[in-house]
Amino acid sequence: MSTLLLESPPAAERRGGVWDYISPSRLNLWLRCPLAFRLQYIDGLRTPTTPSLFLGKAVHDGLEIVYRHRQLCADLPAAEIAGRMLDGWDELVAKESMRFDSAAEEDALKQQALALVAAYMHHVADTLEIPLAVETTMEAPLIDPDTGENLGIPLTGIVDLVVDDRAGPLIIDFKTAAKSSPPFEITHEIQLSSYAYLFRQATGDEEGGLEIRSLVKTKTPKIEFHAYQARREQHFRRLFAVIRAYLDDLDRGSFVFRPGFACLMCDHRDSACREWSG
Ligand code: SF4
Repeated sequence: MSTLLLESPPAAERRGGVWDYISPSRLNLWLRCPLAFRLQYIDGLRTPTTPSLFLGKAVHDGLEIVYRHRQLCADLPAAEIAGRMLDGWDELVAKESMRFDSAAEEDALKQQALALVAAYMHHVADTLEIPLAVETTMEAPLIDPDTGENLGIPLTGIVDLVVDDRAGPLIIDFKTAAKSSPPFEITHEIQLSSYAYLFRQATGDEEGGLEIRSLVKTKTPKIEFHAYQARREQHFRRLFAVIRAYLDDLDRGSFVFRPGFACLMCDHRDSACREWSG
């Protein structure tokens, strides 16, 4: 069992240009479509916060309240967590510049966020997890594990939760999902490897494992835990291969479009993307 306790000041979303830092979300967007990455992170085209994205943030805030209190050995009842989420709702709406189509839409989303967090609390009610870190920003230089080369740009990420576990510290990421999904590790690989890299650099300790905890937005919310083993050398090699390819694109200023299923959810589909000509 680890007794390590990481400092967890309120996580601030890191801001900066593409040469200031790399993050798992930047890498994932670039992998999905380099053009969409360029439009967002280089051209600065902002897209409106969707209800789904907003719900995810509200749920994250609720879970943060749960675990920050657990860190202080205080288990707040579900009603109190709900009250605190409601207290912070308007602030979150303003922070995310969220616009609802109607008061009814806002209220429905509010109730959904409360229900998901309540279902999660019910699910973990009998566990005695000791949080080591909650919503913690981690940043570390990128040192290629094979060559020892410092890539000259840091990796940054916000780790949702680290708890003490029998096998060692367990790194946890929360997701809100529209439906249950099979636990395909590769769909989360960039995030899992990035968080493990950051955790090891920050603590000098190896994680015992990693977990994706999904709060599924079904009519009756479902909670699903998917566990993954500690990262191996091969995972970090693969992560660095992706990072090097990403940096090559930045160097060349080359961001090709990648038409496919991701276009279905892309806000640039009928606007900026149409103007791209290679
Ligand atoms: S519509 Fe598709 S190809 Fe165009 S930017 Fe979006 S994801 Fe990329």
